[in-house]
Amino acid sequence: MGRIVLKNVTKSFGDTQVIPPLDLTIEDGEFTVFVGPSGCGKSTLLRMIAGLEDLTSGYIEIDGNDATQVPPSERGLAMVFQSYALYPHMSVRKNIGFPLRMAKMDQAEIDQKVETAAQSLNLMDYLDRKPADLSGGQRQRVAIGRAIVREPAAFLFDEPLSNLDAALRVGMRLEIGELHERLKTTMIYVTHDQVEAMTMANKIVVLQAGVIEQVGSPLELYHKPRNKFVAGFIGSPK
Ligand code: ADP
Ligand code: MG
Repeated sequence: MGRIVLKNVTKSFGDTQVIPPLDLTIEDGEFTVFVGPSGCGKSTLLRMIAGLEDLTSGYIEIDGNDATQVPPSERGLAMVFQSYALYPHMSVRKNIGFPLRMAKMDQAEIDQKVETAAQSLNLMDYLDRKPADLSGGQRQRVAIGRAIVREPAAFLFDEPLSNLDAALRVGMRLEIGELHERLKTTMIYVTHDQVEAMTMANKIVVLQAGVIEQVGSPLELYHKPRNKFVAGFIGSPK
């Protein structure tokens, strides 16, 4: 579970094409990072995979099924945003359990899944707090907890750490890396931060103006950048 294939995907806003025809395969269990300068189309691509944005043309397949025919909530994907998008009036426990309540799971099962997620994210002492009484890092962990309980086929992260200070970012990178090690679930992680890409990815997709400049492991990109853009952005001087 968690293989995502994009075929000939394009996206235009009005007359402006922001994604020219694009092909990409994300293998099951991979940690893939989309990296590129602001405005290059990272969020648009992720939102199309999530179903939050229509494709202008093309096709997205998730585990062999045509995802474009499946509503966002049924794609088996969980998205984590920079803005956390927590419910301010709900406790941490309620926030994490929210998707399960929506799915009408029974309360005992919800409680158990919330506690397991909270344990793995060091949130056990904060279950009865409201988001306003948490630090930025804790809020982001709650948002990740809410994604974990759904047991998604893939996690989609859109610059989840860009609101955190530098020290916290380092810790959260490690936590997300550990989560991937443990769950072995497909993760797509969007960032404009080269260091984040190089340290977290199994596979990096370098984007410029909606075009994939190169796909490869961090070492491949570093040692064999395909062009000046990749070299300047991520690699060693070419
Ligand atoms: P990134 O996430 O890499 O910073 P985005 O995917 O947000 O880039 O945006 C890619 C391009 O699409 C940008 O030029 C942006 O201005 C444009 N864009 C994104 N969303 C919309 C929208 N809803 N309407 C019009 N243009 C948009
Ligand atoms: Mg973005």
